[in-house]
Order: sequence, then C-alpha cells, then structure tokens
Amino acid sequence: MYAFEYVKPKDLDDAVALLKNHEEAQPVSGGQTLIPTLKQRLAAPTQLVDLKHVHGLSGVTHDNHHVCVGATTRHMDVEQSDILHHHIPAVAELAGQIGDPQVRRRGTIGGSLANNDPSACYPSAAMALDARIHTNSRMLMAEDFFTGLFMTALEEGEVITRVDFKIPARAKYMKFPNPASRYAMTGVFVAQFHDEDGVRVAITGASEDGVMRHHGLEAALNANFHADAVDAVAISADGLMSDLHGSAAYRANLIKVMTKRAVSAIQ
Ligand SMILES: Cc1cc2nc3c(=O)[nH]c(=O)nc-3n(C[C@H](O)[C@H](O)[C@H](O)COP(=O)(O)OP(=O)(O)OC[C@H]3O[C@@H](n4cnc5c(N)ncnc54)[C@H](O)[C@@H]3O)c2cc1C
Repeated sequence: MYAFEYVKPKDLDDAVALLKNHEEAQPVSGGQTLIPTLKQRLAAPTQLVDLKHVHGLSGVTHDNHHVCVGATTRHMDVEQSDILHHHIPAVAELAGQIGDPQVRRRGTIGGSLANNDPSACYPSAAMALDARIHTNSRMLMAEDFFTGLFMTALEEGEVITRVDFKIPARAKYMKFPNPASRYAMTGVFVAQFHDEDGVRVAITGASEDGVMRHHGLEAALNANFHADAVDAVAISADGLMSDLHGSAAYRANLIKVMTKRAVSAIQ
C-alpha cells in the first residue's frame, strides 16, 4: 500500500470540496473493492475521503413510485429493509446474495454502483428498475450512468448520494454465482411494470460491456409473461465474456436459464 492521508468529513459539501481540491483524492465507502486494490498497489490516491460518516447518505425511504436508498447504505441494511421487503423484495433478496456476511456488513450500494464491476449484482437492479442515480450535482438515469466495463458517467470528484428504484408490479433477481466469490457468472433481473415500461430484463456478469438490457427477452415477455416465452428467444454469444469460469456460449445459455427461473418464480 502506498501512503495516503485519511479524512472523514461529516458533511457532503465538505466531502465534495476535499475531493475537488485535492488532486489525487478518492472517495472510499465500504472499502471492499478499493482497499484490496490499494493493498495490491494498483491505485495510489494520496487522500482517501471516507463517505461513511457523511450525514444523510444512508438509509431507505420511499414515495408513491420509488424506493430511495442512500449511497452509504450497506448491503446488509438493504437486505434487512422492511421498506424494500414490502415494495421491492427482489432488491432485498439481491443484497442478501452478495458475497459473504463480512462483505455485506461493510460494502455499500453507492460503492457498488460507482465501481460498476461487470459481475456486480446492483447494476442489473438499477437498469431493470429504471433507477435514478443522484449525485452531489445531478441526477442520471441508470441507462446513462453505466458506460462500460468499470466505467460510469461519474466525473472526477462527483459523489453518488442516493439511488431511487422504480417500484414494479413484480420482480425477481436470479443469479448463477461464482462458487468462490459469489459474484454473478450471470445474473438476470426481471421486472414487470403495469405502465409503458412493461417488462424490463437486465443482465449482469455476461457482457464484455458490463450490465445490459436484453430487448429480445423483453419483447417476448411483454407478449407473454411466461417462462416458455423465453424458449423462442435466440441469445447471441457475440460480445459475451469468455474466461476461465465459462465461455461466451455458456453464459448465453445461462442468460436463458436464469431468465426462465426468474419468470417462473414470479409468474
Ligand atoms: C469476496 C467478495 C465478494 C463479493 N461478491 C459480490 C457479489 O456477489 N455481488 C456484488 O455485487 N458485489 C460483490 N462484491 C463487491 C462488494 O459488493 C463491494 O461492496 C462493492 O464492489 C464496492 O462497494 P464498497 O462500498 O465496498 O466500495 P469501495 O471499495 O469503498 O469503493 C469502490 C469504488 O467506488 C468509489 N466510490 C465509493 N462510494 C462512492 C460514492 N458514493 N460515490 C462515488 N464513488 C464512490 C470508490 O472511490 C472506489 O473507486 C464482493 C466483494 C468481495 C470482496
């Protein structure tokens, strides 16, 4: 680990000012991704701005159409949220499947969205639930937020403050976990809305470009919300990841299987 200064502001404006005024400053939240990266000397921020103590960034609330989750809310708190269990149980279930208890006690939703690991779980929920991602300076729709592998639309010094998930009629996340890390080898989040959004299907762990929607699956499920409707959809292996865990063709098959399981679980 290279040497760095550690600061823990209590106020969002102070955190943003620290990040903007210090050339190599970086936010840290749960540290579950960043700390191992620092330990391997793969990053060398000269200042770490801890967001965990910033007031107002943690907790779950709701309005008529959205469940709003603060950026520093830990996976464990999402998993145990009564509001999520009532309005979008699929998101609470998703959080309960992340990593292991140690990771869930420290890792945060904001850190996960900002990191945009191609195998992370939350990005699929954000895409399928047409999420609004708030930062200290603006609001971005999930579709515009995720821009590629480990890439987001966040600018230097910009801090995620909250994510608003649109409440669906029903939804389910189905993941085929890597047996070692529990990250998604392929994870599919299916959401059905009773408005113009219809059915949205978002996939993580599969594409070389990170999280994606699958419009073929959405069209088939909008026509017939039944697991059998998935059979007729051709899932191309083009652009899917191929690594020591599985080939692109294997992941293409997992997309179909996980989608069918998700739809079967809620139809
Ligand atoms: C063993 C293990 C298993 C895991 N399994 C899974 C899994 O199954 N599914 C899954 O989805 N994830 C998994 N994870 C990742 C875990 O969910 C992490 O918590 C997540 O990747 C990062 O969240 P964090 O709060 O720890 O972020 P940090 O490590 O603190 O930060 C990650 C990155 O985001 C930036 N950042 C943090 N917060 C903000 C913010 N509010 N605004 C802007 N930038 C910010 C940091 O600067 C850094 O670049 C696993 C991790 C481990 C170690």
